[in-house]
Amino acid sequence: MMNSAICLLEQAAARCGGRVAVEEENASVTYGELRSMARAVGSGLLAGGAQPRTPVVVYLPKSIHALAAFFGAQCAGSPYAPVDSHIPMARLQKIVDNLRPGYVVTNGELLTNLEELSLDGTRVLLIEELLAGQENGEAVDAAISQVVDTDPIYIMYTSGSTGTPKGVTIPHRGILDYAAWVADTFAFDESTVMASQAPFYFDNSTFDIYGTLRCGGTLLLVPDSLYLFPSKLPEYLEEHKVTSIFWVPTVMINVANSGALEGRGLPKLKNVAFCGEVMPNKQLNIWRRALPHCTYANLYGPTEITDVCCYYKVERPFEDHESLPIGKACENMRVLILTEDGRPAAPGETGELCVMGSGVALGYWNAPEITAKAFVPNPLSPSFPERMYRTGDLAQWGEDGLIRFLGRKDFQIKLKGNRIELGEVENAAMCVAGVENACAVFDAPRERIVLFVESQAAITLRKMRLALKEYIPQYMMPGELVVMDKLPHTANDKIDRVALKATLTEEDA
Ligand code: AMP
Repeated sequence: MMNSAICLLEQAAARCGGRVAVEEENASVTYGELRSMARAVGSGLLAGGAQPRTPVVVYLPKSIHALAAFFGAQCAGSPYAPVDSHIPMARLQKIVDNLRPGYVVTNGELLTNLEELSLDGTRVLLIEELLAGQENGEAVDAAISQVVDTDPIYIMYTSGSTGTPKGVTIPHRGILDYAAWVADTFAFDESTVMASQAPFYFDNSTFDIYGTLRCGGTLLLVPDSLYLFPSKLPEYLEEHKVTSIFWVPTVMINVANSGALEGRGLPKLKNVAFCGEVMPNKQLNIWRRALPHCTYANLYGPTEITDVCCYYKVERPFEDHESLPIGKACENMRVLILTEDGRPAAPGETGELCVMGSGVALGYWNAPEITAKAFVPNPLSPSFPERMYRTGDLAQWGEDGLIRFLGRKDFQIKLKGNRIELGEVENAAMCVAGVENACAVFDAPRERIVLFVESQAAITLRKMRLALKEYIPQYMMPGELVVMDKLPHTANDKIDRVALKATLTEEDA
């Protein structure tokens, strides 16, 4: 019985230890080598006194070393928490305060950034030193054997509306079932070459890592710089004989718009899957026309349910105005659309998409209140307790039995595939000197966040962005700043977001 996702690597290494598991720009490792690296890291963590279930922060760029740290934490029976190597230190401090990790694993280059952190009892270890250490096979095997499938495998931080990121805690079972679903649905095997786009601190990367490595395929870490030149990506796919991609729609759109798909047959490419935001039909049709031999799949899911819970394999061309379905529930997952009064929605009726199944997270790390709000008992199953995640997404069943995504109930947005709570931007703005009040509004047509602040100071967009750099990542930065003497308020004294949003459409008039 497989109890832990490390078994996926162990089994693949036993079957095909000499095959290339991961390739990055200037290096590659076989399955056997990746297994040895993970066990060396695990041994180092255990020798330092790693306690089971005590998280390990992995503060490294997307790399083979980061993967060795993820699997290394698992070898020590510990969950890992991947964080962006460009994360502002104030945000990392919030994560560390929430997580109380046993270790931060980093490299020599990033080490000095950590000097700003208060790490109260958390030890910092260098990946280079862990990899140079001796493997203690007995200790690692003993730690792995203690893991049960309901233990956490990773904690992934997403934007939080109160300004503190939320640590979504996923169990091993979620990943084991998800990897099996990926392999079956997309027919992954040893010939699979997966070009991985998602950053490792974004849940789409679990499709790439666990789906590919479960099957003995090769995981290609696409150099970040290539995303700045989308017209180069098809050439890269051709050169590397890529068979599968799972990319965020923003990247797919950029590639389609670059015109670089035309005339490039990409005969090896079989699976084109995407997830994370709405995929526009216009660009999807460009891909389908250029590469008609590929299978296209719209995957849907929030971080809280192990990446994906619904999918739709595109069977026909869609007109620009049509809504591309997100389909039906994946294996091991179930979905409900609940109306505001708690009834299952009839076809065509709008409700909140709710998810049950083995992928549902254990909750938010060290945050019982927000966990209790989002992870609730399924109200339609009173006699059999079942946990359900309320996504906050609005959806409808179509007459064709397929689900359509309609948007959000709250102030969470997606900007170039990144999940952002506008509240996190507002909280950061409130930390800037001279700001008395702040309201962030999403200007969807121009794909930017507009930040309205109440202030008597002469703040410019440039100064604001410089100040915000300390608190929020680049992808959350406002694209426009409006300074006001007083923000408008509604009759019950809340900031009048509707009035502020209306000023954006006035600009168009
Ligand atoms: P994340 O937790 O970053 O994966 O973001 C999850 C959110 O992204 C969901 O709750 C949706 O709002 C949105 N999302 C994910 N997949 C899709 C999709 N295929 N179509 C439209 N929105 C999506």
